[in-house]
Amino acid sequence: MSLVIVGSVAYDAIETPYGKTDKIVGGAATYAGIAASYIYHPIRIVSVVGDDFGADNLALFTSRGIDISGIQIKPGEKSFFWSGKYHEDLNRRDTLITDLNVLANFNPVIPDSYLDCEYLLLGNLTPQVQLIALERLKGNPKLIVLDTMNFWMDIALDDLLHVLRKIDVLTINDEEARQLSGEYSLVKAAEKILKMGPKYLIVKKGEHGALLFGEGKIFAAPALPLAEVFDPTGAGDSFAGGFIGYLAKHGIVNFEHMRNAIIYGSTLASFCVEKFGVHRISDLDTSAIQERIEKFSELTRFTL
Ligand code: AMP
Repeated sequence: MSLVIVGSVAYDAIETPYGKTDKIVGGAATYAGIAASYIYHPIRIVSVVGDDFGADNLALFTSRGIDISGIQIKPGEKSFFWSGKYHEDLNRRDTLITDLNVLANFNPVIPDSYLDCEYLLLGNLTPQVQLIALERLKGNPKLIVLDTMNFWMDIALDDLLHVLRKIDVLTINDEEARQLSGEYSLVKAAEKILKMGPKYLIVKKGEHGALLFGEGKIFAAPALPLAEVFDPTGAGDSFAGGFIGYLAKHGIVNFEHMRNAIIYGSTLASFCVEKFGVHRISDLDTSAIQERIEKFSELTRFTL
């Protein structure tokens, strides 16, 4: 049994009020895979890179015990490249460059060894590719989590609505929930989105935490108040990796377990934002993670 993550493995160039990077390793599957690797194994990634993505970069995955036999390496082609610039309010960013390169014709190849997939995370990609990956994984994963963004709502809404009918959990941010539902109230938005197919909806609200909707209930988790946020890139993907990693580890999929899974996701995301790129999240020890989980518990504890 395994956790399969489908998503981008990329180069990013990032600018925040605190500094700037040249090309560094990024990608949704990268952040999600590394985050989940502190909680659950085996993890298998499906993605594509060009031959400019060095062996040392791929070693980042193998050093975390992640199976990369589903990452295709395209000779003579370039990896996906994304560049973004954050405002003083780090919840706001402008995308400067999106060079799809190898992602433009991404045809996900699923190795036979991946067919033991029980937990599936479909990272932010074209809904059509998410659908193909889902179909090629055959079986019926116990849990399918899908992440998407406003870009796909703008240009591929029909495909997105199609794939939404086949998944269990949708993770999007508050603006995207409003766009997808046409409702400003997040409670009304959730009601509408849950009728589109997913059984659960997670609305991410950056430094204001996350909301979980499903089974007729709502759970609200804060984000850990941090003195310094350096680079929010990948926070949503790290969140998704921690979330599904927790559920895979415990093997139970219901609202009660998702409460804890959200705290694990928020914890991994809180590390991610402390340094540029994957620098912080790829260098954690389990005691640091445990300490932060306890901080979350203390942050939200109250007695009636
Ligand atoms: P997040 O900050 O959680 O939105 O994720 C940022 C990561 O997503 C970056 O490392 C990018 O490489 C990757 N990314 C940005 N745009 C896209 C896109 N259109 N398709 C796939 N991955 C993307």
